[in-house]
Amino acid sequence: MIPYGRQSISPEDIDAVTRVLRSDFLTQGPEVPAFEAALAAVCEVPYAVAMNSATSALHVACLALNVGPGDLVWTVPNTFAASANCARLCGAEVDFVDIDPDSWNMSPAELARKLVLAESAGRLPKVIIPVHFGGLSCDMASIHRIAKNYGVRIIEDASHAIGAVYDGGPVGSCQYSDICVFSFHPVKIVTCAEGGAALTRQADLNARMQRLRTHGIVRDQGLMDRTSEGPWFYQQIELGLNYRLTDLQAALGLSQLARLDAFVTQRHQIAERYSYELKGLPLQLPLVEYAGRSALHLYVVLLKGNWASQRARVFSQLRESGIGVNVHYIPVHYHPYYEALGFRRGQFPVSEDYYSRALSLPMYPDLSHEEQAKVIAQMHAILAE
Ligand SMILES: *Cc1c(COP(=O)(O)O)cnc(C)c1O
Repeated sequence: MIPYGRQSISPEDIDAVTRVLRSDFLTQGPEVPAFEAALAAVCEVPYAVAMNSATSALHVACLALNVGPGDLVWTVPNTFAASANCARLCGAEVDFVDIDPDSWNMSPAELARKLVLAESAGRLPKVIIPVHFGGLSCDMASIHRIAKNYGVRIIEDASHAIGAVYDGGPVGSCQYSDICVFSFHPVKIVTCAEGGAALTRQADLNARMQRLRTHGIVRDQGLMDRTSEGPWFYQQIELGLNYRLTDLQAALGLSQLARLDAFVTQRHQIAERYSYELKGLPLQLPLVEYAGRSALHLYVVLLKGNWASQRARVFSQLRESGIGVNVHYIPVHYHPYYEALGFRRGQFPVSEDYYSRALSLPMYPDLSHEEQAKVIAQMHAILAE
């Protein structure tokens, strides 16, 4: 089966990990700060806090922005559940902003409309979490301009988008947000096996996220309420977690990061061929450039016309021919957990229509020319009927 996504591991990656295994530190050693410094440099941002997943990083980002019971957080339905779960884990309520039918990202027009209603109802969100779907940046300049009028804070869920460019700068620079989160799961652009990071320009958020990642513990005298009792001394000043990345994972991530540009370039070459070879078919193809370049985590096509109702059949035919297509995403509000909170089908029509027609085709740097030819030939064979 040709998968829809997979990691690309080099001999250098393997060496980097085995070097750590032979070293003094498997965790809390020098690799994590080195990885954080490299991430910050790539993203042109002062601070990066590495964690053991993007889910953890989203949770910590919400905690650092003081999201708690009584607060409201908005994200989009077209995402992985973690973008919404992070708010629920803080005890906050969640609501959704529908997506734009072309970019499949949070619609700024819909955000503006919903904020007007929320303000008159006295129920504004504390935080919004736009998601850079498939690696394509949201219209962050508009989202930031709209949110700022209401004092709403912004966390970018950039799990798909390390290596993307928006408005002349790297995604992750936090030009239009408070915090930006990446995932380093193996299907994403670069991997730590499991891993994530939260980036920010704000020193106070950086310090807060660093201590929330490690139990809420500090060693800095300025943050303690009594004089140090000796070199062993530390204090827990708030409730935190163990969300640390290991040095093994950081070494893998650091080694992978050296190939970030190559990975994104390879993904664009694959996308270009798909876009050229599939353009005559009854499909809506993805945007790969919008005020910059997508990182192209996913290559999603939408079935059009008479094919719109045939997704299940097309999906099965592709799987039967050895092509591991997938669907991203089942709208978050369809899940029983969210239905139990009162969400209903029909509430977010653009995300729902998108979902009913979406197929993620194989997209990863090591996808061979022959494998891609097979995917293209099967798409033609199925959709020519
Ligand atoms: C993968 C993903 C996450 C979660 O990432 P993990 O590192 O697996 O926790 C969150 N949000 C989005 C949009 C994702 O695709």
